[in-house]
Amino acid sequence: MPQPNSLKTRTTTMVKRQILAAPQRLGAWPHLRRLAGESLVGLLYHRIDDPDRPEFYGYRDNVSATREAFATQLDYLVKNFDVVTLDDCIAWIEGRAPLSSRAVLITFDDGYRDNFINAAPELAARNLRAVLFAATAFMDDQAVFYWDWVAEAFRWCSQTEAELPLLGFTVFDSPQTRRRAAQRWITTAKALLDEEKRQRINDLADCLQVLPPHGPPPGLHMTWPEVGASARDCFDIGAHTVNHPIVSRLSIDEAEREIAGSKTTLENVLGYPVRAFAYPNGQPGDFGPEHEAILQKLDFSIGFAAHGGLTFAAEARQKRFALRRACINNPDDLPRFAAKVAGATRFLDS
Ligand SMILES: [Zn+2]
Repeated sequence: MPQPNSLKTRTTTMVKRQILAAPQRLGAWPHLRRLAGESLVGLLYHRIDDPDRPEFYGYRDNVSATREAFATQLDYLVKNFDVVTLDDCIAWIEGRAPLSSRAVLITFDDGYRDNFINAAPELAARNLRAVLFAATAFMDDQAVFYWDWVAEAFRWCSQTEAELPLLGFTVFDSPQTRRRAAQRWITTAKALLDEEKRQRINDLADCLQVLPPHGPPPGLHMTWPEVGASARDCFDIGAHTVNHPIVSRLSIDEAEREIAGSKTTLENVLGYPVRAFAYPNGQPGDFGPEHEAILQKLDFSIGFAAHGGLTFAAEARQKRFALRRACINNPDDLPRFAAKVAGATRFLDS
């Protein structure tokens, strides 16, 4: 028997799904968006992969879409919206060119290799360009993102219950409860300062009797030659810090070193200036005006956060170093995706 609350939640979700499906069936979202006038919607993807394939490595919740769903989403965009480039957005912000009333910018964060293997060919097949924000310490599989290591640690450890750092006593005796424990641990750890996070990760490794993070399996992240090839074919490359810290958790000097370090490394690889930056995690509170000022000082032209919605010209010019992007998540069906592209994210849960 479902609990009253969960029944209420599920009913609300079903009603929302029906409401979202109606404009999509009618093809109304693009028209609603056009009525709003000249504006930008940024889309934020992480991984494009099948999280249910047996060889999948890492945190399943970080998958934004399977390749098939991504292709369907691109077809919807091509048919109904104007996919714009980073250059178009910068020209718009600087007042040098107008933007369509149905402009959409596609972006990817972190630098997973599945972006190169699965997303790039789908973009190229439709003659589209996107933006790839790379966290430079992780390229060439030099390091593993902690969320991927945590997910794998819970997946493969031999224990079924433990007194866990950060969470206390937890039972994880099935694939579902292991996945939930990893989700809770990752969500809790996200708020920690980097040094404390490193200690807790080592504590977790001891507790679960697994090796601490030392690197991902080969091929999880893009290689530098792949970054270069992507830049020629279908991605404009942006910076995303060196070690992927939440910059508001650092001293202002450390934050500047992280931001500048990723820019310099990318420019050395690419041979030309990198003008775009995306804040790790990117939620309100994960960065502030002092970090936007760093972007300006370092000669970036544009910066991106990770909260969705329409950006109009006035906001874009005022907040050019903290533009909105809507997160795309693997459970997003086409009606939900269409609502996000229309800028209707306030109605959605995420
Ligand atoms: Zn990121």
